Amino acid sequence: MNNIRKNIEDLRKQIPAGVKIVAVSKTKTVEEIRRAWDCGLRIFGENRVQELVSKNETTCFGIDWHMIGHLQTNKVKYISSFISLIHSVDSLKLLIEINKEAEKNNRIIPCLLQFHIAAEETKFGFGIDEIYKISESGGFGNLSNVCITGVMGMASFTDDKKIIEREFRGLFNIFSELKKNIFPRNTCFREVSMGMSNDYLIAIGQGSTMIRIGSNIFGGR
Ligand SMILES: *Cc1c(COP(=O)(O)O)cnc(C)c1O
Repeated sequence: MNNIRKNIEDLRKQIPAGVKIVAVSKTKTVEEIRRAWDCGLRIFGENRVQELVSKNETTCFGIDWHMIGHLQTNKVKYISSFISLIHSVDSLKLLIEINKEAEKNNRIIPCLLQFHIAAEETKFGFGIDEIYKISESGGFGNLSNVCITGVMGMASFTDDKKIIEREFRGLFNIFSELKKNIFPRNTCFREVSMGMSNDYLIAIGQGSTMIRIGSNIFGGR
């Protein structure tokens, strides 16, 4: 039996109060989500649109849903009415689509820019040069229904703590640079989403404000 309550208590003991926990509930049941909610967790993350929509419809206790996985442009419309933060914005095209859907729903959708910080080829995300290019061509200018609230990234899948630490430090440096050079007037640009079950302590050491924890709360998948 997996003790969700104890897992959450153990997790809370290790992290500073200012760091937000995104409880990653992918593949887990509404019953398990409810148990984590009863321990005070309010933010839940999913990585697939269909599962996210279905769980949003079957829970009615006011969850803050975060989209943490790769998002296809043609699926934005299914989550745009309720999503509270999209962590995985990895193209201008996607950002423009989110803006359009947010406008239809008469709301502003907070978004994080996902950066490619890992050694692996397959992980999605921007490089910082792309952000400078978009900014210089005025690409962020007309998006009044999205708010870019920070950055997100995933470290390499490795046991080498030095590599993970270096990649997270790199993401924090990207965050600081963008805050200074691209989004200086954007007061909501303040989140650094990094750290999962295996590396959240390293991430917090490097300035994470938001950790995304699945297995350490709900058990393995
Ligand atoms: C699954 C997932 C997590 C959580 O992973 P755990 O190792 O179970 O904590 C975090 N972020 C993203 C983007 C994920 O897909």
